[in-house]
Amino acid sequence: MSTAPVSDESRGWKMPALHWQVAAALVAAAVAGSLIGPQPDFIAGCTFVGKIFLNALKMVVVPLIVAAIISGLSSVADAGGLGRMGLKTLGYYLGTGLLAIVVGLLFINLLSPGIIDGKPAGPSIGLAQDTQAVVGKIEDKGAGEFLKVFELMFPPNIIEAAADGQMLGLICFSLLFGAFIMKLPEKAATVQRQFWSGLYDVMTGMTRLIMMFAPIGVFGLVSPIIAQTGWAAAGPLAKFVAAVLLALSTHMFITLPLVLRFVARVSPLAHFRAMWPAITTAFSTSSSAATLPVTIQCMEDKAGVPKSVTSFVLPIGTTVNTDGSALYEGAVVMFIAQCYGIDLSFGAQFLIVSTALLTAIGVAGIPSASLVAIAVILGAVGLPLEGIGLVLAVDRVLDMCRTSVNVFGDSCCAVTVARLEGEDGVLGEPSLRASRQA
Ligand code: ASP
Repeated sequence: MSTAPVSDESRGWKMPALHWQVAAALVAAAVAGSLIGPQPDFIAGCTFVGKIFLNALKMVVVPLIVAAIISGLSSVADAGGLGRMGLKTLGYYLGTGLLAIVVGLLFINLLSPGIIDGKPAGPSIGLAQDTQAVVGKIEDKGAGEFLKVFELMFPPNIIEAAADGQMLGLICFSLLFGAFIMKLPEKAATVQRQFWSGLYDVMTGMTRLIMMFAPIGVFGLVSPIIAQTGWAAAGPLAKFVAAVLLALSTHMFITLPLVLRFVARVSPLAHFRAMWPAITTAFSTSSSAATLPVTIQCMEDKAGVPKSVTSFVLPIGTTVNTDGSALYEGAVVMFIAQCYGIDLSFGAQFLIVSTALLTAIGVAGIPSASLVAIAVILGAVGLPLEGIGLVLAVDRVLDMCRTSVNVFGDSCCAVTVARLEGEDGVLGEPSLRASRQA
């Protein structure tokens, strides 16, 4: 995606780069949303514009994921290289996911948002009004939901999985499809490779076009949220919101940049600059799946990560690697325990960490998907499901933030794996091997 300033020579004026346009749209949305407030026509108009942008992004997701994985996998010459990349990706996902959850629990333990004046905060915070509706919806999604992750990997009907946006099934199917192309006779394999690689190029081209409308789309998505919810909803839960935001910020601005600096050996600042359009898209859509096309664009066009890495790491990461969600799940469960005055033992906290890590794999990249995973963890540690009502009022705003962390985490993995694979030119750096020899 080109974000280079567009010059308008005749008027001597330069169109700012896309990331500045999107940043301006975010500020404009915050100002307009707070000034205009919950005015029905304003909300309806903005929601309409935002929905069209979101739909356009979602429109390219399924063909993009399938084409990316199949063309990426089928063009990898040696299966050993693929296995190596797979192991690095998995190791990164597990390691950073664990760190994220531990940081989340640490901040909730430190700030104790569920305790007010030494007493459990539950009664004074009160449950959100529509608790029953939400609890009803997720009550039947207990521990079975966890095993369902494996069921989702093998959907009986791949077309239905695509229509439902069920990514885990699509990923498994595409991985198998790509692997079996490698087993075809050369002539047939080449036809397949050319087709899927062409489809992939068309999808990335369409994404580029959609992203030209990102500033309008971001305004349409964010302003109704500010107008309706405002920041006031966060008031009674301010300490909890602060703890989650601090933990998410620690992961995004300290932990992951350290990985970039010392493992990938690239400039974290350059990485942030390359990822800005994807981070703001994640923030405004609250959907890492809808943001995937933009993440791929940013990584390939701006960070210089080769397609062989992005097509493997990013679609899988969007579904499997959700650091922000895993952190949030652990933090909410711990907060609910504090509100009910339940002191969780080390064993129970360990159970939270492991269940959060595993359930985060099944969290779809769509808004509010974490609430289901939270119900599973509450069930696992034996806490009342009603506790979810406590965080409903602030879930939307925190969803925007955790989705940004999810997407940023995937991009850090793409850069790290590309560097460890010895790729040249990632974020303008010579390959690691070349810099070691120099
Ligand atoms: N909205 C998140 C995402 O799309 C998932 C969640 O935590 O609810 O990545």
